[in-house]
Amino acid sequence: MAGEQELARLLEGNKKFVEKADVEKLKELAKGQKPYAVIVACSDSRVVPEKIFNADLGELFVVRVAGNIACESDALGSIEYAVEHLGCQLVVVLGHSCCGAVTAACKRAEGHNDEGSITSILKKINPAVVKAKMKVDRMGGSLVDEAIVENVMNQVENIVDCSQIVRTKVREGVVKVKGAVYDLQTGEVKTV
Ligand SMILES: [Zn+2]
Repeated sequence: MAGEQELARLLEGNKKFVEKADVEKLKELAKGQKPYAVIVACSDSRVVPEKIFNADLGELFVVRVAGNIACESDALGSIEYAVEHLGCQLVVVLGHSCCGAVTAACKRAEGHNDEGSITSILKKINPAVVKAKMKVDRMGGSLVDEAIVENVMNQVENIVDCSQIVRTKVREGVVKVKGAVYDLQTGEVKTV
């Protein structure tokens, strides 16, 4: 049966987690969370914010969608919850090198077809591809790499433009929204 082995692997992994877990800490965290930052990251299995930022349980409030897009109300609502109710003062949109979603959006712009709900994601990345293409046409470089950076900057803008709660807090100087890109090969994160 498809997926059975994988499910068993997950549950086995959880057993090991429970064995190693600090029960007192889990109980303490169960009372409430106080994450210090919101990370809007791609769903890519190689981009795991808690590992990349050496963070423990309860430290990061993570929103993950392929292509680290933040224009949907669900993603924005999650960000707003963290900012408004959990007191997070930093929101980081974290793109990454070799992003499959951005690569697919670049291919889509060249006329490749895609299917299903992924189209909706790729359409949201498209404005970044358009900007990146203009830049690459002028100055050379890699379309995908440029589109990854442009997409991060667009999503930072989206969060501020589309969320009144975040916008107000940014204007008051109590919340910062910042873009960053993770390099899969070196493990380094650089702000953009
Ligand atoms: Zn990605």
